[in-house]
Amino acid sequence: RIAYVNGLYQNLSDAAVNVEDRGYQFADGVYEVCEIVGGKMVDFPRHMARLERSLRELRIATPMALTSLKVIMQEVVRRNRISYGIVYLQVTRGVAHRDHGFPSPDVKPSVVVTAKSLNFAKNQAAAERGVKVITTAENRWPRVDIKSVGLLPNVLARQEARDKGAYEAWYVDDKGFVTEGASCNAWIITKDGRVITKSAERGILSGITRAVLVEVLASLQLKLEERNFTPKEAADAAEAFVSSASQIVMPVISIDGNPIGNGKPGPTALRLRQEFHKFADIA
Ligand code: PLP
Repeated sequence: RIAYVNGLYQNLSDAAVNVEDRGYQFADGVYEVCEIVGGKMVDFPRHMARLERSLRELRIATPMALTSLKVIMQEVVRRNRISYGIVYLQVTRGVAHRDHGFPSPDVKPSVVVTAKSLNFAKNQAAAERGVKVITTAENRWPRVDIKSVGLLPNVLARQEARDKGAYEAWYVDDKGFVTEGASCNAWIITKDGRVITKSAERGILSGITRAVLVEVLASLQLKLEERNFTPKEAADAAEAFVSSASQIVMPVISIDGNPIGNGKPGPTALRLRQEFHKFADIA
């Protein structure tokens, strides 16, 4: 496998960044993950818009023109012969002697791109079985709107889910509302067919898959409510699912051991999964 690191395409096993990279020492960086379908990137413009926003919020310079980034990401996809999978882009503030404040003068941001194939049949089979989620206390910083590489709370939440035999953990804030999953946005569908997901205004990462799904829902004339919901409301819902670039729509069949609906993937979640790519920008 091939990775891009600061101007060079290298074997993944040899690819490395400096030990004084601020991404390594401070998690001082951001990332994006794009789905690859038929060797092409899904919703690239939206991912780049979010990347630029994350960089701006952290006052990290944009490392190069987005058109150049696109060429590099496409090249990593091509060199790895990915037909279906994901491409990962990471930009950190760069390499400097360790000091919490920003380097002065500025250093060049570090850019890393990797890609991997996913197993389409395996993911589809998982979607048809559905997955279990647990809940865990929200313990992340308030700036989860920034797609930062500082993911330790997410790592611990995902592991807690695994330890409990579940696929994902949903964070619950101090008011008792679900925010999102460790690496996905959380959705439920009420028994009368309203689709509910937390508003992207605060407390969650504004998912690109989420944004496209909002358009899919409108075109299918499904009712959307962007508002808070509780784990109890999820347990009482007809359906639930999670969304992210790597999973698109993954039906959820139980929360903390309580079955959702009839304990099987819901028809609307499966339909949204099927419709998604008709609405995505694939290029
Ligand atoms: N929320 C979190 C915390 C995530 O890490 C992710 C994606 O990895 C998402 C939501 C979904 O975002 P997207 O649909 O852009 O992948």
